[in-house]
Amino acid sequence: MNVEEIDCKTALSLSKLPGLTYSLNPYSGCQHQCIYCYVPSVLHLPKEIWASSLKVKRNIPFILAKELQKKKPGIVGLSTVTDPYQPLEKTYQLTRYCLQQLLKKEFPVCIQTKSSLVLRDIDIITRFSQIEVMMSIGTDDESHRRILEPGSSPISERLKALKAYGETKVKTSVFFGPIYPTITIEQLPRILDSFIDAHVDEIMIDMLHMKPGLQQHIKETLTDNPQLSKAFSSGTSRDKEWFTTIRETIQRYLKHTDITVVDAF
Ligand code: SF4
Repeated sequence: MNVEEIDCKTALSLSKLPGLTYSLNPYSGCQHQCIYCYVPSVLHLPKEIWASSLKVKRNIPFILAKELQKKKPGIVGLSTVTDPYQPLEKTYQLTRYCLQQLLKKEFPVCIQTKSSLVLRDIDIITRFSQIEVMMSIGTDDESHRRILEPGSSPISERLKALKAYGETKVKTSVFFGPIYPTITIEQLPRILDSFIDAHVDEIMIDMLHMKPGLQQHIKETLTDNPQLSKAFSSGTSRDKEWFTTIRETIQRYLKHTDITVVDAF
């Protein structure tokens, strides 16, 4: 993957996603390399180009600090088209520096990641009066995770990070999506128990959406795994029926807990 350091002109952009006022993306591109990633389709970029280059916005904390002087407070989504805690964040720490700026101005933040590196910043994150740590988890099958999300943290590490935040006053949630189409109804209690054990406040659920070109990309990438390929490239009508059953099972299972279940937008 080609890594390029760049200077950005803006840091915050208005977000169209429900619940977010701004989006903040310290990187362009993502080392997690999820096969089903929707970002290229959202940005109208060819998947090969998006997947092969990573831009590091090295000046983003400074630009953000300037913008925060003038912007109206609103929830900042960190991040919406990249993962703010992908491996390069260990070196560049741009997400950490941005959080420091947001904390100074008391902007509320929603962090979404597939990385346990979010735990590194617990010293800053726990000082916010309004912040959410949302961990994306679509399966508990580590062998599937390694194939479908090769650069992300192992599921057990993500759950450990979530649990550490669950023991603080920080709001925690799981983005249970896209729920891997390989998951059966019988496997759900085991997965949900792991979320309960992590003390999450909320679970947001979503199914895999076949964005343009994604079905073809999945087929080409998973040629050595016909079973996974079939499950991940099946028609959406079957998926919708399956997802309704999954949603009902989740709601029933969590009915007597304090966990809120919401649909993704
Ligand atoms: S972590 Fe998110 S942005 Fe990164 S490749 Fe996976 S789905 Fe795309």
